[in-house]
Amino acid sequence: MDAPAQRCARASRFCCRFRSVFQDTRRAGAAAAYSTRVEKPQGSPVQRPITGYMQDEEQHWVALLSCGHRQHVRHNPPLVSRPWVLTAEGRAQHLGALLDCVNCRRFKLPEDFAAYKRTPEFSPGTIPAGLRKAHATRPGVWARIHVLQGRLAYRIEDWQVDTVLTPEHPGIVVPELPHSVEPLDGDTRFYVEFHAAPEAPRAEAPASPAS
Ligand SMILES: [Zn+2]
Repeated sequence: MDAPAQRCARASRFCCRFRSVFQDTRRAGAAAAYSTRVEKPQGSPVQRPITGYMQDEEQHWVALLSCGHRQHVRHNPPLVSRPWVLTAEGRAQHLGALLDCVNCRRFKLPEDFAAYKRTPEFSPGTIPAGLRKAHATRPGVWARIHVLQGRLAYRIEDWQVDTVLTPEHPGIVVPELPHSVEPLDGDTRFYVEFHAAPEAPRAEAPASPAS
């Protein structure tokens, strides 16, 4: 089922637009028969540390988060009081502060991210054991699970997501979020494609511990 598009009141290019986990499938023109089970993940909010800042066209401050998403951090009294954002010192002091990221909850792969690596093609006989157990990508690393043939179970225990990926329904992997996969058919074939910010350092980043 297609989710209704909704826009936040901030009509900027960083505006959060609702997309389901299968947003990229839709963009690719695939069939619009999406699973609904993953559109409202349960569990605690995704908190991401601020890693930097930029300003939008109207000179409002935007926080850059570790996941690659961006979030306005306006000082707009009396509605929103964030005087710290107006000074370089204040902004520096808030590096590392945690913000709830709604776009992570929506499985929204940052649009400026690019694919930089992919795994070999896996089958039930060649899938690494680690993929069947909960594991996670590093901070800032997203992934897309492409199923070439058959069905693949995709589970995110923390969000109570348990869904089935197929060639028409790829999966999106959220940074640092433990997940697991399991081939459901004898002829299931899939691979994982990793995405990161174009300028992100990749080789030296420590691996996120699996849980
Ligand atoms: Zn995010």
